[in-house]
Amino acid sequence: MSHAYGQVRFSDGLVLHYRYYGTVDMALDALFDTASGVYDDWRSHTARACVCGKDEPVEIATEYGSGFSWNGRACRHCMAITAGFSPYEKTESGYVVKRDGLPDWWVSGEEEFDITTTVEEQASSFDDLW
Ligand SMILES: [Zn+2]
Repeated sequence: MSHAYGQVRFSDGLVLHYRYYGTVDMALDALFDTASGVYDDWRSHTARACVCGKDEPVEIATEYGSGFSWNGRACRHCMAITAGFSPYEKTESGYVVKRDGLPDWWVSGEEEFDITTTVEEQASSFDDLW
């Protein structure tokens, strides 16, 4: 499984959802209100960028592997991660260090689907077309 589900938490407690690309160890930029929004975007990744300049410091977490989290920046208005795509990225405040395990704020029960099963089902249905 190379892609995984993740969550971004803003300082006021708002949690948004994104997709983590495990093969290259980085987060994809688009944020979604719900976990199912991540699923809907699965095959046609929407690229997003902040155009308003109001991005904020956030914590980014993924359940990839055994789960881990790190610091980054994101914009709730543009629904985009703007910095900290990689857990190992160097930022203005220094190197971002990956923290093992899911963070205390992780919202469980948001995963309304099994991504691994879904991707395989999508792949097999795609094969049927050929
Ligand atoms: Zn913005």
